[in-house]
Amino acid sequence: MSETKDPRPPGEESGPRKAKMNLNRLEMPKQAPEVRRNNFDEVATGYTYEMAMEEASRCIQCKKRNCQQGCPVNIDIPDFIRLLQQKDIPGASRILKAKTSLPGICGRVCPQELQCENSCTLNKKGAPVAIGRLERFIADWERTQGTVSTPEIAPSTGKRVAVVGSGPSGLTVASDLAIRGHEVTMFEALHVAGGVLMYGIPEFRLPKGIVQREVRYVASLGVDIRLDTVIGINYSLDELLNTRYHAVYLATGAGLPMFLRVPGENLNMVYSANEFLTRTNLMKAYLYPDTATPVKMGKRVAVIGGGNVAMDSARCAVRLGAREVYVIYRRTRAEMPARLEEVENAEEEGIQFHFLCSPTAFISDGRNNVAAMELLRMRLGEPDASGRRRPVPIPGSEYAMDIDTAVISLGTSPNPLISSTTPDLETSRRGTVITDEQGKTSKARVWAGGDIVSGGATVISAMGEGRRAASAIHEYLSQ
Ligand SMILES: Cc1cc2nc3c(=O)[nH]c(=O)nc-3n(C[C@H](O)[C@H](O)[C@H](O)COP(=O)(O)OP(=O)(O)OC[C@H]3O[C@@H](n4cnc5c(N)ncnc54)[C@H](O)[C@@H]3O)c2cc1C
Repeated sequence: MSETKDPRPPGEESGPRKAKMNLNRLEMPKQAPEVRRNNFDEVATGYTYEMAMEEASRCIQCKKRNCQQGCPVNIDIPDFIRLLQQKDIPGASRILKAKTSLPGICGRVCPQELQCENSCTLNKKGAPVAIGRLERFIADWERTQGTVSTPEIAPSTGKRVAVVGSGPSGLTVASDLAIRGHEVTMFEALHVAGGVLMYGIPEFRLPKGIVQREVRYVASLGVDIRLDTVIGINYSLDELLNTRYHAVYLATGAGLPMFLRVPGENLNMVYSANEFLTRTNLMKAYLYPDTATPVKMGKRVAVIGGGNVAMDSARCAVRLGAREVYVIYRRTRAEMPARLEEVENAEEEGIQFHFLCSPTAFISDGRNNVAAMELLRMRLGEPDASGRRRPVPIPGSEYAMDIDTAVISLGTSPNPLISSTTPDLETSRRGTVITDEQGKTSKARVWAGGDIVSGGATVISAMGEGRRAASAIHEYLSQ
């Protein structure tokens, strides 16, 4: 019998040799588009146990851990998948939890295709191992079993840290520092913890029960979460530093919406994506009148923008009953910043994409409601600072489109509340807080990370910055 050649590249082999490299990545079951258009239930329903085992068996356990290096929080990916292959799910969960407190969230919304999965050896040959889906499977399995694996908490250091903001960055710092024995208080302006995970990303992509379970997990590590407390109003940053806390981590995100600054933008039924999504997701307007907050919406909805926020807004509009939903984007599909998976989901749900055009005005129906939009066609020019080709207006190409609702989704910037009440906190022209590599700000004993520093990025990068800052804060407190 002839020997099967080891499929792993030289230097990447370890453990028992596999007979064959399996390039057939297992798809995750999803609700059919015509069904999910009418509900807010989760679109992707997750792997079954058998599916997870089959997908895990595709991992060839490379010695060189490219996938791990591709993960901003450096999860020991080959190790957790090896334990899955051995059917040791609690063991796999312990490996995950050593590096992330939010596996159910990351498994659902991280752009794995650009990170760990992009670096997977199988990606060079075909389809990478579905690392994100396996991470999600482990978190969901733990939830359904009612088991929770918690790391060991170090003895109390007697040091107190305030974390401002309870999004993924704040949750990561809080758990990392609590595990190291520090007393952590997390202040959150809203009535519920979780940041964008609660008020922005819709239920059908990230169920709120999953977010709250992971928030409770962070609380179970000893973190004291104080809701309805706005730093900059209820307490200033200096008050936190001067009264009780040895260090502060700022993770207040970037919740201030940007606008087009064109005529008619203040007409009724022209929303910022923030308001539209907060009403829909945080305040659960899709259950109105069983909930207190409605979201008024017409039948022809234009969503302006091409990122994840635009996709979420458009897909919420479909589910809230819009007859036609248009995504208006000034570049082409290839330049869209949204995750490809979400663009494909939106297309399947019947959302119409209008590329290479940009609104120049919103037109009133005479009673202060938006009735139409004027647009200008674009062509792609030379690449700009982002590396993407710049949209260039085509003179004389104006045209109009009838709409009755618009959702502006052009990005956000940090809320200036804390910086405006803290004169010695250095910020950029864009309003982001300036830090060094470890998240240290210009102000003594204050670190920052996540969207307040980046101006808007991803859940996992906000967590990665939190992890680095937690190490720096710990080092400072240990002196
Ligand atoms: C609609 C939408 C969809 C997205 N989809 C994805 C996705 O699919 N994948 C992905 O990786 N990323 C996605 N992102 C980006 C991602 O959610 C953010 O990068 C991430 O949440 C940033 O985390 P953060 O902890 O820095 O801030 P946030 O999540 O914004 O949390 C900040 C928290 O601080 C609180 N806060 C603000 N000011 C104060 C104050 N003065 N005092 C006390 N509390 C305060 C806020 O209420 C909030 O709870 C999306 C963003 C949006 C808006």
